[in-house]
Amino acid sequence: MSRPEAPLRIAIAGAGMGGLALAAALCRQGTHVQVHEQARQFQTVGAGIQLTANAVRALRPFGLEAPLRARSFVAEAAYNRDGQTGEITNVLPMGERLERRYGAPDLMLHRAVLHEALRSAVPEGVIQLGRRLASFQAGSDAVALLFSDGTQCTCDTLIGADGIHSVVRQHLFGPEQPRFTGRVAYRTTYPTRLLGQAPLDARGKWWGTDRHIVHYYTTAARDEIYFIAVTPEPEFSVESWSAIGDRRVLECAFSAFHPEARRILAAAPEVRKWALVEREPMSAWGRGPVSLLGDACHPMPPFMAQGAASAIEDAIVLARCLEGIGRNQIPAALRRYEATRMPRTARIQRTNRANTWLRGPTDTDWVYDYDAWNAPLA
Ligand code: FAD
Repeated sequence: MSRPEAPLRIAIAGAGMGGLALAAALCRQGTHVQVHEQARQFQTVGAGIQLTANAVRALRPFGLEAPLRARSFVAEAAYNRDGQTGEITNVLPMGERLERRYGAPDLMLHRAVLHEALRSAVPEGVIQLGRRLASFQAGSDAVALLFSDGTQCTCDTLIGADGIHSVVRQHLFGPEQPRFTGRVAYRTTYPTRLLGQAPLDARGKWWGTDRHIVHYYTTAARDEIYFIAVTPEPEFSVESWSAIGDRRVLECAFSAFHPEARRILAAAPEVRKWALVEREPMSAWGRGPVSLLGDACHPMPPFMAQGAASAIEDAIVLARCLEGIGRNQIPAALRRYEATRMPRTARIQRTNRANTWLRGPTDTDWVYDYDAWNAPLA
């Protein structure tokens, strides 16, 4: 009688939004998984995040919807305005109308709240902190992982969820920097009381020709506000990646904007800035028992609020492809996952690049209606 195969051992590099969602989905299926995260502790960046309906739907089976809803802001509408005149260019109904249309809400919240919620869906002991993956070697029956502290371990499959500067991606396909878009994003959260009077719109986007500002509350109580202001700064060093922003430079970049928009920038005690980078859609995400997800394979500027959403969708589809398979089926399952996800993420990357999403009337169905749990697999 043949012995039953030992359970698959899956290693994930990176405990960001995508890595955690994958760990949660795999643990739910009873798969043995280890997440290796380089950070020694998780840090809070002052940033909001918009979880669109497709992302909320993907997280639903983890029981996170109610706790996330309780700690999020739901806007009645997304107002798009001309940056200088304030004239409305488009309004996307949100709130109950959006939820009725897509069967899930659109939540705006603090990034740390989402990260904490995702961690809570992963059992104790699965996430290993202070484990920076340095390299790996994929052999015929196992993948050997080497960490920067000199430690090693083996697994049956490795998923690189290690973000925009992915080491796994680099080992698979060689060194190559993502392309700097020439634009930077200033972003911060701060107590709404610093603003004095409430903003004109609870959720707004102010459009200039080559720059814009998005703002929204990040709590149901509307006591914290977030903004992201994107502007050309071609000389910004990409190596800095994330830095303290100079508020005077920021205010100067938006000096021609409407006073209502400028007021939101001016009330911030401090801002940080990020280089916005992107990459052409890749023609392959993996090889053998190794694959990628999230920013590691499809980084995109945050113009459609789909970066984390896409990483979470990847995680669900990948977990579906890995469910119930044997060790020798791993490469085929990974290629199936990639073939399922690549057309959608490439379309989002290309749409994103135009930066016209919601500026005028926009078809949002193909993005918000996607159901990662039931989408047909390739
Ligand atoms: P990450 O969340 O970056 O996680 C990668 C993890 O891997 C990190 O924890 C990192 O420490 C770890 N890591 C890296 N290297 C190693 C290694 N060698 N070994 C072990 N661990 C490693 N998306 C939205 O959906 N909505 C938004 O509103 C939104 N706003 C944004 C605003 C800005 C300014 C930016 C820059 C992005 C925004 N995004 C938004 C995009 C979103 O943040 C990313 O797409 C998302 O975080 C990607 O998730 P990920 O898991 O792929 O990578």
